[in-house]
Amino acid sequence: MTGRFDVDGLLERFFDGNTAAAARLISIVENDSENSQKVLDAVFPKVRGAYKIGFTGPPGAGKSTLVSRLARIFRQEGRAIGVIAVDPTSPFSGGALLGDRIRMQKLTEDPEIFVRSLATRGSLGGISRCTNDVADLLDAFGKDLILVETVGVGQSELEIAEKAHTVVVVLVPESGDSIQAMKAGLMEIGDIFVMNKSDHPDAELAARDLEDTLRLKDIPEDGWRPPVLLTSALEGAGLETLEEKIKAHYDYLERNGILDEKRRRVLRSRIWEALLDRVEERLAMDKEIAELIDRRMEDVLEKKIAP
Ligand code: GDP
Repeated sequence: MTGRFDVDGLLERFFDGNTAAAARLISIVENDSENSQKVLDAVFPKVRGAYKIGFTGPPGAGKSTLVSRLARIFRQEGRAIGVIAVDPTSPFSGGALLGDRIRMQKLTEDPEIFVRSLATRGSLGGISRCTNDVADLLDAFGKDLILVETVGVGQSELEIAEKAHTVVVVLVPESGDSIQAMKAGLMEIGDIFVMNKSDHPDAELAARDLEDTLRLKDIPEDGWRPPVLLTSALEGAGLETLEEKIKAHYDYLERNGILDEKRRRVLRSRIWEALLDRVEERLAMDKEIAELIDRRMEDVLEKKIAP
């Protein structure tokens, strides 16, 4: 009972614009405690449809630096910004968490920029659902723009396409091999390609190479052709152009009615995610299933059947 009572109080303060209450509610949602559904149901009617910009790319490409800079630029234009950083301490990358935290902390000195790191413990599906839920909270809290940064490793980077309205793929010239490797999946989801670290001598060549590859994409005449931009997040170069292109992409989506379509698609995939979550939960608790697996395990151990 006290839990419920607390949540009601938190929700009240959240809707009054209290940042500490927002942070608490996000924790409730993130940890999927028994109150999270109550929070999400209360918040959802107040979701206004903030614009979500996803940033993905290999670790070390400069995503955090870029997002920090951009957040400040958008902020100067008077927009309320939320940043969701999917924590790079994933089992895959084991990346530089500390540096990220420190940079992100600098951002939080601006009270209008709300930054939240999500830990990648648990399943990818869990992260994915959590990212959407936290984005809803930030949206209902009054943020106009939500920047979502994900480590571009494996599956999660492609999932961003189902979460963000504009996807910015951040690459760097020094990782030629990785670019080759990443191209396949990332080529499909990128609305804007950024060759970061333009202060690097090979940057222009790498950008042209990427442009050549993108030219092979089959895009209708009135379709969106993803631009390739050079930026130096470190020196702050090329960021205005990036901002312009993000706006241009938004305009394109809006003008062609694609934005509404995307919003519907995202909601649909979220319903699926929620559904699959519940099914998985139930299966995991089902004794008969557990017994069945135990029985079949013997057959697998004796190599009668494959897992
Ligand atoms: P992330 O892992 O993609 O978020 O990358 P970070 O933003 O953490 O950046 C990784 C490293 O690259 C940091 O040491 C940054 O200072 C550096 N970095 C980021 N952008 C640039 C850039 O444009 N030029 C150079 N030379 N270094 C950069």
